[in-house]
Amino acid sequence: MPTDLRLPTNAIVQPDKDRFLNEDNPFEAMMSRFDRAAELLDLEPGLYKVLRKPEKQLIVSCPVMMDNGEIEVFTGIRVLYNTSRGPAKGGIRFDTQVTLDEVTALAAWMTWKCAVVNVPFGGAKGGVICDPLKMSAGELERLTRRYTSGIMQLLGPDSDVPAPDVNTNERVMAWIMDTYSMQMRHTVTAVVTGKPIEMGGSLGRREATGRGCMFVVKEALAHLGMSVKGTTVAVQGFGNVGSVSAQLLAREGCKIVAIGDRSGAIYNPAGIDIDDAIAYVKKHKVLEGYGKGEKISNDDLLTLDVDVLVPAALENVITTKNAPKIRAKIICEGANGPTTAAADAILDEKGIFVIPDILANAGGVTVSYFEWVQDRGGYFWSEDTVNERLRDLMVKSFRDVLELSKQHKVNMRTAAYMLSISRVATVHRLRGIYA
Ligand code: GLU
Repeated sequence: MPTDLRLPTNAIVQPDKDRFLNEDNPFEAMMSRFDRAAELLDLEPGLYKVLRKPEKQLIVSCPVMMDNGEIEVFTGIRVLYNTSRGPAKGGIRFDTQVTLDEVTALAAWMTWKCAVVNVPFGGAKGGVICDPLKMSAGELERLTRRYTSGIMQLLGPDSDVPAPDVNTNERVMAWIMDTYSMQMRHTVTAVVTGKPIEMGGSLGRREATGRGCMFVVKEALAHLGMSVKGTTVAVQGFGNVGSVSAQLLAREGCKIVAIGDRSGAIYNPAGIDIDDAIAYVKKHKVLEGYGKGEKISNDDLLTLDVDVLVPAALENVITTKNAPKIRAKIICEGANGPTTAAADAILDEKGIFVIPDILANAGGVTVSYFEWVQDRGGYFWSEDTVNERLRDLMVKSFRDVLELSKQHKVNMRTAAYMLSISRVATVHRLRGIYA
């Protein structure tokens, strides 16, 4: 192993869990996993330096006329982490917690995620610091359009293709597509994915991340010799990823005993009727008040005695504090970065099989890729075709990562990083350094 891999001059984090500067910093969490995989791959020092840095970070101020006639200025960020394998790809989130570090980490995760499932994209992420729940539809539209104008220089079907993420949806994607198209003077559907079906969206895209989680959970159960029928599952997060994962796992025969969202969690050992809970949330916006189970906290949900735990909300929910108490046999990371790097070692010691985020939730970007292909070809696939192709890609990627983890005697996360970093590194080697 080259010594400068162990002691890079610009190191932010050392791959030693006791030396974390801040367990909650997602960029450090990403980097420490990257460092470990780079070390195992014996990645050459030059490429190591290249892959530790984002290619571009853009911060824009977005003045918006609010409904009360006052001007508010929001901060928007877009980070292109690496575009060696293709156009930058990654969602845009609207949230009060958005920071440059977080968006950079998420952009790096997108780079590794696209490489794990081998879709020809690089990685990007965007974020706007705002509280969308307190904004009207008009305010959100004006903010989206102003942010899109601000990052226009990056966007394009061949350069940077956003998608939905936390608190953004098809409607937001439609505004982005329209703003971009108006400036280009012609309609460009392939500039975003996760659009409404009527304007170039793909069938199956909305459910894709949750469906992907279902496929990899089934693979993990088979690998561990556990049956799908009667497997108990707790799902944290009841947005697009959590609710669809729960619904599809229930359809496969799993028993969903706990679900939770930002308003709290519900536990019912007899099993929760997920379709009913989804209908409730559609009407009431949150799970609060859904009486068909015992009310518990989200922290309690994470440490329930279940077979499968699906953290499908935000980052840093599994930490050194609660990891020792987790009882699930399998963790399927529906969210990006739900486990801190320092907690990894604890989960390993407990023998918990973790399907890492960059594999577990890659179904979303996989169908984004299918959407982009369909837009560019102008020919649209049936939902069955989308779902079958998604299943094939998720199952193959799971098996590739599992194989590598056995070969190198490492956990699934390290194997997933090794696979993706080696794919990105290979392209860098082939392309060489432009001067
Ligand atoms: N936001 C999703 C993710 O984190 C989807 C990204 C995309 O489809 O580009 O994977």
